Amino acid sequence: MNKKKKILIANRGVIAIRALRAAKELGYEVASVYSTADKNQKHLRLSDEAICIGPPNSKDSYLNEAAIISAAELSNVDAIYPGYGFLAENAEFAEKCTKSGFKFIGPNFDIIALMGDKIRAKELVKSLGVPVVPGYEGKVESKEQIEAEVEKIGYPVIVKAAAGGGGKGMRVVNERSALWEEIQSAQSEADLAFGSKEVFIEKYLKKPRHVEIQVFGDGCGDAVHLFSRDCSLQRKYQKIIEEAPAGKIPEAKLDEIQQISVNACKQMKYEGAGTMEFLYENKEFFFIEMNTRIQVEHTVTEMITGVDLVQSQLLVALEGEFNLNQEDLKINGCAMQCRINAEDPETFIPSPGKITQVHRPGGYHVRFESQIYSGYEIPPNYDSLIAEIIVKETNRERVINKMRMALNETIIDGVKTNVDLHKKIIEDKNFHEYKHYIKYLEEDLLKHE
Ligand code: ADP
Repeated sequence: MNKKKKILIANRGVIAIRALRAAKELGYEVASVYSTADKNQKHLRLSDEAICIGPPNSKDSYLNEAAIISAAELSNVDAIYPGYGFLAENAEFAEKCTKSGFKFIGPNFDIIALMGDKIRAKELVKSLGVPVVPGYEGKVESKEQIEAEVEKIGYPVIVKAAAGGGGKGMRVVNERSALWEEIQSAQSEADLAFGSKEVFIEKYLKKPRHVEIQVFGDGCGDAVHLFSRDCSLQRKYQKIIEEAPAGKIPEAKLDEIQQISVNACKQMKYEGAGTMEFLYENKEFFFIEMNTRIQVEHTVTEMITGVDLVQSQLLVALEGEFNLNQEDLKINGCAMQCRINAEDPETFIPSPGKITQVHRPGGYHVRFESQIYSGYEIPPNYDSLIAEIIVKETNRERVINKMRMALNETIIDGVKTNVDLHKKIIEDKNFHEYKHYIKYLEEDLLKHE
C-alpha cells in the first residue's frame, strides 16, 4: 500500500481547523505547528502530530520560516498549507518550501511575488484586459512633478504602498496642499511596515462596493471562476460580512468581469485558489489587487457552488488533480457570512480572554467554522477573528432571516464580541436594499446611534 500523504498546517485558528478537516476527509495525515500561546487549539488534538515552533510573538513562531521548514522536515510531510495571513503571501517562504523539497500549497512563488507588488500586478492585469482604478504608478520624482500627475487624475486620491497589505499605509488626499506631505509620510510608513518606500496613487472612489471574483487554476493554463462575492460591509478596511453571489449588478456586467478574471488566470498559468478584487462604482469594475491564497470568505462560495475549495487546493497541489469544470459550476441559492471577532463592537479594540460559555447555532444550511469551546482562552497575540457563521438560502431575504436566527442562537460569554453589531447590521434598511458601500458602517450606520 502507498504511504499516506501528509501535510503541515502552518497556521492557527479558524483556517487551521478548516484545513485539518479537509485534509483528514481526503485521507491525508496532518502535522500542525503551534506557538506556546496556542497549546489549547482544538485542531492540535485532531492532528497526527503537533510541533511547537516558538513563543507567542508571531515573528518568532508563525512567521518564523526556519522553524516551520524544520517542523516540515521533522514530521516528514509532503506539502505545507499556509492558509491566510502570516506567510500565506510571502513569496520568499513559498520559494524556501519548494527548494527544501516541500510542495507549497498555492501558486508558484514568482506569481506570489508579482501580485505582492501592487504596481507590477496592476500593470500585468491591465495588459491582460482587466480594468484597473485610474491612477499614477510611475516614480515620485519631485513635488511639482507629482502634483502635475495628480492634477490629471483629479482629487480626491489615495496613496498606497506598492508592497502594502491588510489595509495598512493608505492615505486619502483631498487637495493639492496636502499631497506632498502625505506622500512623504506614506513613504516612510511603507518603509517601516513593508521594507519598501515605493508608493503609487489612485483615484479615490467615494462610495464603491467591494466585489471580488473567486478563481481557481490547475497551474498548466486551465482555470475556472466560481462566481462573485460582495464584501462591502467593512470596518477599518477589513471585511466583516460577505455574501455570494454579489447582488444588484447587471448580469451581463458580472459575466464579463468573471470572464476577464478567468482569462487572466489562464494566461498566468495560475495554480490553486485566488481572488481578483475589484471596487464597483457607477456600474463599473476597477481591479485593486489579486490575493494569491484562500480567503476568509471562501466559505460563502462553497455554500452556493457545493465545491469544497480547500479540498480542491489539496487535490491540485498533492495529486495534480483539477476537479473543477466551468460547465458543471452552477450557482445554487445565496449565502452570507458574519465574521465573529472577539473585539469591542464600538471601538473595534480586541478583547482576548477566557470564553466561559459557547452555544453554537445550528440548523439546515447553517455552518459554524471555529476552534472555540467553553473554557478556551483567546490569546492576546493574534487576529481577533474567532468564528464564522455562514448560512445559505434560496434568496437574500431568506438568507437574512436565517442569519437572524443563527445570530440569536449564538452565545459566546466571557469576552466581548461583535455578535450584537451583526444583529444590528442585518436589520438595517440600507443593507437590505444593497445601498451600503465600503465605508458605510463607519461613515453612516455607527454615526447615527
Ligand atoms: P490591502 O491589500 O491593504 O487590503 P487593498 O488595495 O485591497 O489593500 O484595499 C483595501 C480596501 O481599501 C478596499 O477593500 C477598499 O475598502 C479600500 N480602497 C482601496 N483602494 C481604494 C480606492 N482607490 N478608492 C477607495 N477605496 C479604496
